[in-house]
Amino acid sequence: MNLQCEPGLAAAYKSRSQIARVLTEDWCARELYCAACPSNALSRTETNAATVDFFCPKCAQPYQLKSRLNAYTSKITDAAYEPMIRAIREDRTPNLLFLQYSSNWAVSNLLLVPRFFFSESVIEKRKPLGPGARRAGWVGCNILLGNIVPDGRISLVSNGVALPSKDVRSRFAEMRALSGVRPETRGWTLDVLRMVREIGKENFSLSEAYDYADQLQALHPHNQHVRPKIRQQLQVLRDLGFLRFVAPGQYAVIKH
Ligand SMILES: [Zn+2]
Repeated sequence: MNLQCEPGLAAAYKSRSQIARVLTEDWCARELYCAACPSNALSRTETNAATVDFFCPKCAQPYQLKSRLNAYTSKITDAAYEPMIRAIREDRTPNLLFLQYSSNWAVSNLLLVPRFFFSESVIEKRKPLGPGARRAGWVGCNILLGNIVPDGRISLVSNGVALPSKDVRSRFAEMRALSGVRPETRGWTLDVLRMVREIGKENFSLSEAYDYADQLQALHPHNQHVRPKIRQQLQVLRDLGFLRFVAPGQYAVIKH
């Protein structure tokens, strides 16, 4: 789990974050595997690829790496807002890897969020940079980790211990049906799935789901038909195998 900090590396780079970038990318190139297929290695992309750091040589799944010293907070600063929203709408987001390393260069935690878990509800628009900034007017975004459905946070390393790759792959495979939902409506599907997880019961009713109507309305301010949308998305989740309809207005959770 160590990042292998060679002597001399510290001298070659200006800052600790630059060293971290080199070490964590090296580690991923050595240790990572594809969660979507049996490939036991990932390939690096050309260095100037803006949002993709690795891809699977067998199935071409794209991966982007983010790394930091401390534990991830609920809000992660990301790149420009508009290109991120466009990527979500066009279904081009990469799988994201969140790597946390310790001060003695060991990998403490590594989380994978599959690409189909990113929706507009997960992206927060930041204030434009002020007139004094070098890129005045530029608008960045934050990734709201807390708005990602728990199902979409797959642990590869936890407290310095790697989890079995077969568990990671089976988790990815279980969730993959979500990628078949059109990107225009997938945001709704994910928000309603997150609601189901928040309800947290094996069986729940439509009226319990409606308790989340205001919250969902806030995430989708232009939608005037939130309750019908909730019912529609519960059907989508049933068709994807997450839920079972047991009686009118009564649902049972299948996948946990
Ligand atoms: Zn693959």
